[in-house]
Parts: sequence; C-alpha cells; structure tokens
Amino acid sequence: MVRVIILGGGFGGVRTALDLGKKIGKTAEIALIDRNNYHLFTPSLYEVASVCDIAEDPFSVALKKTISVPFADIFEGKNINFVQAEVDNVNLASQVLKTKGGHELCYDYLVIALGSQASDFNTPGVKEYAYQFKTIDDALMIHRKTDELLDSLAAGQRQAPLTFLICGAGFTGVELAAEIACRVRRAARRRKIKGRPLRIYLFEAAPRILPYVSDKEREIISNRLTKLGVAIMSGSAIESVGDSFVKLKNGQTVSGDMVVWTAGVKPSESLKSINGLELTSGGKISVGEHLHLAKFKNVFAVGDSIEFIDHKTQKPIPAVAYLAIDHGKIAARNIINSIRGEELKIHRPSYEYWVTPVGGKYSLAHLGRGITISGFWGWIARELVDLRYLKSILPLGKALSIFAREYLMFRRGNM
Ligand SMILES: Cc1cc2nc3c(=O)[nH]c(=O)nc-3n(C[C@H](O)[C@H](O)[C@H](O)COP(=O)(O)OP(=O)(O)OC[C@H]3O[C@@H](n4cnc5c(N)ncnc54)[C@H](O)[C@@H]3O)c2cc1C
Repeated sequence: MVRVIILGGGFGGVRTALDLGKKIGKTAEIALIDRNNYHLFTPSLYEVASVCDIAEDPFSVALKKTISVPFADIFEGKNINFVQAEVDNVNLASQVLKTKGGHELCYDYLVIALGSQASDFNTPGVKEYAYQFKTIDDALMIHRKTDELLDSLAAGQRQAPLTFLICGAGFTGVELAAEIACRVRRAARRRKIKGRPLRIYLFEAAPRILPYVSDKEREIISNRLTKLGVAIMSGSAIESVGDSFVKLKNGQTVSGDMVVWTAGVKPSESLKSINGLELTSGGKISVGEHLHLAKFKNVFAVGDSIEFIDHKTQKPIPAVAYLAIDHGKIAARNIINSIRGEELKIHRPSYEYWVTPVGGKYSLAHLGRGITISGFWGWIARELVDLRYLKSILPLGKALSIFAREYLMFRRGNM
C-alpha cells in the first residue's frame, strides 16, 4: 500500500488529505500530522481578538470553538489517520520522519504544509512588548487585554480614550482595527463609559495601505476606517516598539495602551529541520508548476511555506488561504497521477476573488472583472464564503452548527 504523509493541517494540508481520502483512501495509507488537534480558521481570528464582554464564557471555551474545527470531525469516516504530534525532523533521502515524541514514520509521498509564523523583521521591542496576532492564543490574549482595559476605564482607573496601536495595515491589520473599533465602542456604551472611548492608530511603512487592491477599493476601505475612528498612518516605518508606544523612523513616538503586531509572517521554522530541503533566501520552499521539489519528486509542498512564481506577473504569489486550498487540490491530484503513472497537473494561481471585513456587518468583496461590492451585501458575500469553506471540510450539519455558533457570538447586534 502506498503511504502518504501530510505535515500540517492548515488550509493546504486539510484539502490535500480530504481529496486523497476521497479518491484513493481505500488503496493508500494517508496520515496527517499536526501539533494541534484542531484546524484553525484564521479568517475569523479577528472576531475572537476583538470580542468584548462575554462573561458567560470565562474560560473562552465557546469562543475557541467558533474558529477551531476538531480534526476528529473533519476526518470522521474518511480513511485518513490523524496524528497529533510535533514534527521533529524529516530525512528526505531516506523517506523517514520523526516526531518530537520519538515516533518514526516512513512514507512514499510527503506533503509539506507547515504554513507560516509571525515575523517581527528584527524590529526591537516587538517580541517583548507587542501582542502577536497569528494563533488562537494570540487572539485570546488580545481579547483579554481589551476587556481588562475596558474594566479599568469603567472603574475610573484609566483615562479615556483607550489607544490601540496596530502595526501593519495589510488585510489582517485592517480587519482587526475595524472590528476593535466597532466592538469596543459598543462594550463602552454597555459599561456606561462617557466620552470618546477609543482611538486606533494603524501604522503602515508603505506609502499606501493594501498595495494589492485597486485605488477605488482602497478609498472605500480607507473611508470606512476613518468613519470608524481609525487613524491610518501610512508611510510610517516602525523603528521600535515599547510597552506603551511605537517609535517611528521619522522620529515621532506615538503612545498607547496596547501594541498589536500584524506586520508580517515568515515560513515555519520547522522547515529547517527537514534534511535535504533547499530553502530560498526568504526561508521558503521553492517549487515548480507541479508543486513538487525539483530533487525529490515524491515530495510536494503547499500553502504559505512555498515560493511559487506566477507566470503571469513573474512575482511570488501571496500567502493566502484560498491559494493554499488550490495547492492542496493540485498536490492530491498529482500524487494520484504519479501513483498511476499519468501526466501531472500544472498549478495556475488565480487570486481574482477576495473578501475583506471592515468592521461589523460591512465587508468589501472583490469579485473580479472590476466588480466590487461593499457594505452589507459585501458582508453577506463574506458569510457565504465562510459557510462554503466549512461545508467543504465538514458534513453539512457540523458546518451549519459552527457557522450558527459564530453568528450568535459575534455578529448578532453588529452594525
Ligand atoms: C489573522 C489572520 C487572518 C487571515 N485571514 C485570511 C483571509 O481572510 N483570507 C485568506 O485567504 N487568508 C487569510 N489569512 C492567511 C491564511 O491563514 C494562510 O494563508 C493559510 O492559513 C495558509 O495555509 P497553510 O496550509 O499553508 O498553513 P496553516 O494554515 O498555517 O497551517 C499550518 C499547520 O501546520 C501545523 N504545524 C506547523 N508546524 C508544525 C510542526 N512542527 N509540527 C506539527 N504541526 C505543525 C500548524 O499547527 C498548522 O495547523 C489570514 C492569516 C491570519 C494570521
């Protein structure tokens, strides 16, 4: 029997596993290894970070369930073995991997889907003082700190407005800033806090936020942020970060109550423990159009950890979930084709469609061919995209149950 091992249960790894399980699950041994026992739905991480006032969930159990999908639910009855373990090292030449618990596993085909991790680009103070925003624990820390700040404001121990310093105005920073603006204001009203409760600075080193979007879309998003009280600080490269300030390279220092770092990611450090893997200068895995390694054609790589040059733009493709899913589909197809001795499929990236939430029931949906929907209907588009994804990895009942839980906790009453 052919043995396939998938490292990492993010968007790319889960898609690879499900497609393989469906198409060759009975004739191959498929295992997916992840250090966690759940698949993290990062597109809704900003909801967990910005939620306030949920006293009825003191240990955040319900909160975690809204964005972490147990692998047991995803792979139930699917001919896929889930192994919860941390990958320690892999030897590509001998086709053996070791987990941190000391288990050794052999494979015929390997899929590397280990994703990315937060990067501070060696900016002084980020590690020590800034809240990160990449994992579920990061989001929970931001949520708790926000609640703590609101409590001290309500108790008169702190002066209004609370000031949030968000570093990095990519999609992640924009979504987080907008949602915090909506939620904190509502929570402040509920706690009867008088005056302007909140001020948010969103720092971006580039001259414009969101360089990949059109001017028209940038204007819509910027106007919405401004309306929510977010000050967009573009052209503001950060020199260092402290406990309660951000120092800019132009000499200005902005003080605040909380610093959040959303300015970038780098490939998983775990890639360095794969012997025989050649990494680019940025630490990514370079793959060709079939998504396998040039030296080891039985090893595929997908998602945030790869460097893939788009033939149309001659630039590396962005690290986004929907591309990781596409990679997963291609990797699964190509493993099957390779087993059967058939021609491999070529990956042609397409990133024409995206939706970004900008606070409350407001999103901007870029639907390609110059069509953009913003506001409530953009939000509906975003909800449908989320539900469609959950449905693609779970039975309908379970997908609906997570979707409903998320709606009840985050969206009800949102403007
Ligand atoms: C806050 C936030 C919001 C985002 N919003 C969007 C969005 O709205 N739309 C969008 O398209 N993209 C979004 N992204 C980007 C998206 O999350 C990534 O592009 C996507 O997760 C990449 O998928 P992946 O499969 O490569 O890796 P990941 O999803 O990161 O999965 C990697 C997996 O590998 C596991 N792992 C790593 N190292 C080890 C190890 N040594 N041993 C065992 N397991 C290991 C991890 O636990 C993880 O489950 C967002 C990202 C963030 C951080």
